[in-house]
Amino acid sequence: MLPVRSERRVCRALLLTFVLCACRVTAQGALPPLKVVDRLWIDTTARACTDFFQYANGAWIAHDTIPAAYSSSGVARDMSDRNELVVRSVLEDAAARRASQPAGSTPHKLGTFYASCMDSSAAEAAGIDPIRPWLTAIDSIATRDQLIPQIAALQMRGVTVAFRYGPEADPHDAAHYLVWLSQGGLGLPDRDYYTKTDPQSDSLRQQYVEHITKMFTLAGEPAAQAATDAALILAFETELARASLTRVERREPSATDHPTTAAELATLAPTISWTGYFRAIGLTAPVARLNLAEPAFFKRVDSLVNTAPLGQWRAYLRYHVLDVAAPWLSSPLVDEDFAFSAKFTGAKELLPRWKRCLRETDGDLGEALGEAYVAKTFPPAARARAKAVIDDIRVAFAARVHRLTWMSDSTRTQALDKLGKMGEKVGYPDHWRDYSKLESVDGPFVSNVARANAFEWQRTANRPGTPVDTTEWGITVPTVNAYYDPERNEMVFPAGALVPQTFDPQADDGANYGSLGGSWAGHELTHGFDDEGRHYDAHGNLRDWWTAADSAHFTTQADRMVAQFNSYIQVDTFHVNGRLTLGENIGDFGGILTGYDALQRALARNGRPKLIDGYTPEQRYFLGYAQSWRVHARDALLRTRVTVDPHAPERWRVNGPLSDAPEFAKAFGCKPGDPMVRSSVPQIW
Ligand SMILES: [Zn+2]
Repeated sequence: MLPVRSERRVCRALLLTFVLCACRVTAQGALPPLKVVDRLWIDTTARACTDFFQYANGAWIAHDTIPAAYSSSGVARDMSDRNELVVRSVLEDAAARRASQPAGSTPHKLGTFYASCMDSSAAEAAGIDPIRPWLTAIDSIATRDQLIPQIAALQMRGVTVAFRYGPEADPHDAAHYLVWLSQGGLGLPDRDYYTKTDPQSDSLRQQYVEHITKMFTLAGEPAAQAATDAALILAFETELARASLTRVERREPSATDHPTTAAELATLAPTISWTGYFRAIGLTAPVARLNLAEPAFFKRVDSLVNTAPLGQWRAYLRYHVLDVAAPWLSSPLVDEDFAFSAKFTGAKELLPRWKRCLRETDGDLGEALGEAYVAKTFPPAARARAKAVIDDIRVAFAARVHRLTWMSDSTRTQALDKLGKMGEKVGYPDHWRDYSKLESVDGPFVSNVARANAFEWQRTANRPGTPVDTTEWGITVPTVNAYYDPERNEMVFPAGALVPQTFDPQADDGANYGSLGGSWAGHELTHGFDDEGRHYDAHGNLRDWWTAADSAHFTTQADRMVAQFNSYIQVDTFHVNGRLTLGENIGDFGGILTGYDALQRALARNGRPKLIDGYTPEQRYFLGYAQSWRVHARDALLRTRVTVDPHAPERWRVNGPLSDAPEFAKAFGCKPGDPMVRSSVPQIW
């Protein structure tokens, strides 16, 4: 169960998030240090101009075995393996010393939270007792009027049923929060799993029904009733799925931009008492206007509230409680929950409990943990050096915008204004979150998670109408990831991403500018100008600042990139979805070109070093980029990612954009006709 928080546009693959970062200082001695470019990973029998991903990473892949508890291995896991030892020591220290900490202090709460998670014997003894009051409340729903208060109560505890409520930036006044109502409430990872008609999708739906049946029987329901309820739930969620937009449709910001008044909402979805709902979720002021992200979805939810049998509703709500609580209940539920999720990840066994507890604690009390983590591991000098690389990227991108021949001066001026106003957060927040209102007590861990969700809800639910908190971070400090937020027009790089293998102040410019410069900073910056980000202006407002001709050029070039990625095989017979991955692919391409320019500036400033391991700075640059995507994933995960992940597989994140970059061909002497040299390349940033 994760706290309800706004979706961010994280830039490493899904299902790899919440892994934690490496600590160079403390982890030394435990595991060998990582290098930004490691020549031992290079497959010297491969040809750089044929398959650069294989060349840069092939020797590593040949000897890598994905551990049973993981769905992939590579950069993120290597960094997290080192770092988790540090974070574990922070948490174990907090747990051991909590008795001596003042009750109610953040260290006391942190230690109590982790200790209650680690108490596996208490979880075994309790069975489903900790969530029995929730299930009883659902079973007591006897009239349609009682549905919405129950939905509200569950949402506030982190059980996202029926739809999503969230205060997000107003698309037309990004400096203020607005109520957003959005689609949600599915149990499978994407709406497409309910609508696809191929045999594999049919089989997965059957397995989903069997899984729900098993979960209900483990919770004490008679088998026949459990099977009947499971079928009702699949039918119910299929209704929600059919009314949901696809991930590709939602990439277009205008598709989810529907300013709506309270009166219009009442007309569109008249069965639901919206004033009652907003009161139930704790809003203290009436809601006069909102963004109804997917109006057709809410029409369907309203009709389900009006017509779906109450028994079907109760079964649906009960299952979702079991689903989010299962990881923290007794072993039979934990194991069944894992077995079903493994169909999508390919993992063979559960992570050790301490790792699961560590990640949940990071998700729920991330800034309490992050504060202790930074104090141990991330000195101000590391932050300053990383900022210097990011600043070089900004200068290099501005120079590229000045040089673009296809762009009119009118659009160019606005692009440069947006770049100039783009914010950045590097390392850790200037102010740490106040957890004084969070409750964390001895007892069942699942109850502490629910309390953490309730804390997050209360912290954010009443934001509509207030100024956006520009100091807030969307991911935690130890996370190996980064994001660009179009509504705030800012890039965010947590400390967890700013250590080897990503970045090493001791490494050469070629390696650092390829990895941190191109793969991270240049990529994030380009998101401000990808197929989605370009629709937002310098202030984060949804506003078209492009001339018609420039917009047409961009769309034509982006379509070429869609076609390029559609041609790549993801796994088996599945192709990459070029439309779903377009924003990330534009980010990668822009990142590579910008990082390269930034390297040239750094070399002019710092001087050209001698060859390192026989490679020029430019070759080290492309190796740094390619090795930053050193990932080896199970087929089951790659299949899931086709549907849910806006990132192409790492092999194509390397070979796709590099084969579009003449700078790469020049660095490695590739010739026309080589697979890594495409004859027709997109002209974007
Ligand atoms: Zn990205």
